[in-house]
Amino acid sequence: MLPTRAYATKGPSSPLEPFTLERREPGPHDLLIEILYCGICHSDIHQTRNEWGGAVFPMVPGHEIVGRVTRVGPQVKRFEVGELAGVGCFVDSCRVCESCKEGLEQYCDNPSAVWTYNGIERDKKKTQTYGGYSSQIVVDETYTLKISPKLPLANVAPLLCAGITTYSPLRHFKVRPGQRVGVVGLGGLGHMAIKLAAAMDADVTVFSTSQKKEADARRLGARNFVLTKDPNLQALANRFDFILDTVSAPHDANAYLNLLRRDGVMVLVGAPEKPLEVRAFSLIPKRRTLAGSNIGGIRETQEMLDYCAQKNITSDVEVIPMQQVNEAYERTVKGDVRYRFVIDMKSL
Ligand code: NAP
Ligand code: ZN
Ligand code: ZN
Repeated sequence: MLPTRAYATKGPSSPLEPFTLERREPGPHDLLIEILYCGICHSDIHQTRNEWGGAVFPMVPGHEIVGRVTRVGPQVKRFEVGELAGVGCFVDSCRVCESCKEGLEQYCDNPSAVWTYNGIERDKKKTQTYGGYSSQIVVDETYTLKISPKLPLANVAPLLCAGITTYSPLRHFKVRPGQRVGVVGLGGLGHMAIKLAAAMDADVTVFSTSQKKEADARRLGARNFVLTKDPNLQALANRFDFILDTVSAPHDANAYLNLLRRDGVMVLVGAPEKPLEVRAFSLIPKRRTLAGSNIGGIRETQEMLDYCAQKNITSDVEVIPMQQVNEAYERTVKGDVRYRFVIDMKSL
């Protein structure tokens, strides 16, 4: 076993603190990756605080991982020692169900993908998984991503979750140039959604509770900015082709559904702990669709990383040492981050 330094939380109201875990020795298909940077996703906060239920402690969060390969198993074909590698939200899946065969491992039916943390490996021992707030990780090469050395690595880390979570629905719902796209919530996911939708030549409008983010929204590529408490919000009714809702807390989804034109689609990627109320008459009159979307499969994540390398798209980040993680959680919950905290693992 490989003793590994990490930060873990012992329970839903405990802070993250130093912890040592054991990684397995790399098997024939595994890479041992020295973690260089790991982003802080709001899902890390929901999970460490057990806001979604099902949390297992101690928990080492982190699923926006970039690092360097330090060892390869004898059967590894795609990576060599010294190369960069990325790991996102899952590290394995059943590989045989319909979703896995289609490259949609995030929707694995048997019974789910093996989440990078707070998950259970498919081994006999049912090993608990531990995430990227750690010095190294062992992952089957099939579930790792190639990272271009062209882009700054700290800014690339958030693409592994925030990037793919926003790219995947834009592609799946075939957002086209010129279409009116709304992005609700300007945080980690929201700022990636603006950059990606703008790169796809959509006409992007940001809906935000924070007036002070307007200049940033425009710099990131939005043409319009709307304060969500603006009493004139409904003047925009029936205008939007597609809306991506990235809000992490309970909010009124009906206000945005009403802004969709006939046959428009709103996709929830934000995952508040409490249910959202949806009025039937927010959907029926204009045959609108409300959908959800979960990260993206390995193939599409690689496609997104290559797209971002080609278009020079990365995340706007604030790099912090591991020791500031608890403060970073508080600031994220307050919406006080421009626009993703990324942990520099040298500090661990
Ligand atoms: P984040 O950086 O904290 O951003 C969330 C944004 O939501 C905030 O910046 C804020 O934007 C808005 N917001 C927060 N509280 C609000 C409230 N009470 N009312 C209205 N707006 C509020 O979080 P993130 O990392 O982008 O993640 C966003 C959500 O997506 C989380 O729930 C996370 O778990 C989920 N997620 C889902 C997937 C998936 O695969 N579906 C993947 C990753 C994350 P403004 O300041 O602009 O209002
Ligand atoms: Zn995430
Ligand atoms: Zn499967």
